[in-house]
Amino acid sequence: MKWVIKSNIKMGVFPVLEVIAPRLNLHFASRTGGVSPPPFDSLNLGIDLGDTDGNVNQNRNILLKALDISNDNLATGEQIHSSNIKIINKGGRYKKCDGLITEREGLSLTISTADCYPVIIYSPPENVLAAIHVGRKGAVKGIISKTLNILINKFLINPEYTISVIGPGICWRCYRVNKEIAAQFDMGIIKKRRGKLHLDLALFIKNELKRGGIKQKNIFKSGICTSCSPDMCFSYRRDGYRTGRHWTVATIK
Ligand SMILES: [Zn+2]
Repeated sequence: MKWVIKSNIKMGVFPVLEVIAPRLNLHFASRTGGVSPPPFDSLNLGIDLGDTDGNVNQNRNILLKALDISNDNLATGEQIHSSNIKIINKGGRYKKCDGLITEREGLSLTISTADCYPVIIYSPPENVLAAIHVGRKGAVKGIISKTLNILINKFLINPEYTISVIGPGICWRCYRVNKEIAAQFDMGIIKKRRGKLHLDLALFIKNELKRGGIKQKNIFKSGICTSCSPDMCFSYRRDGYRTGRHWTVATIK
């Protein structure tokens, strides 16, 4: 992932996509370039976190303008740490889901995060796009395999040609877990650091994508840990309850 500046916002982009998936427009908007004061500084896009609705709306408008997206074409999910996925063809706020799938051009799918991983799955031949919110709970509930099953069975994608992007999220070094949580994952996903158990959620996601048939060479990772990057990212683990949320925005051109 490379940082570029668009209208004062530092955004993460994947230059390789321009070559292998030219119709996919993907941006990770960092916490920069917005109007919110600390601890939501500055481009907080999450509501009901303690920031004012006025600030959040202003930040959303700043981002939409920077990406040239109209509010009507913006789709967000409620994100309840479920494995619920919705197939959509218009903008709006979709309740009780953590994954959105569309084949509609110009519809922007957003994933809101602060440590959880935004995961994008896109198949160029069929031009179908999925955006999913993957935290520990949704991962265990199988949101990645469920999404891939829908793409394969309903949209008839061939995972061999499908690409996937794992956006910024918490790295395993920053993600200490207790024994009960560790027991939900295979041994390779749980790592030991200074005698404590840590969860490698990014590795779990990558393994799930590969298990679903996506080739290793078609899986791209941002390499950015939200908790290790205080200048660019919000982190629930690092900052506690009072922190913002940033968006990953994916659109079929
Ligand atoms: Zn980290």
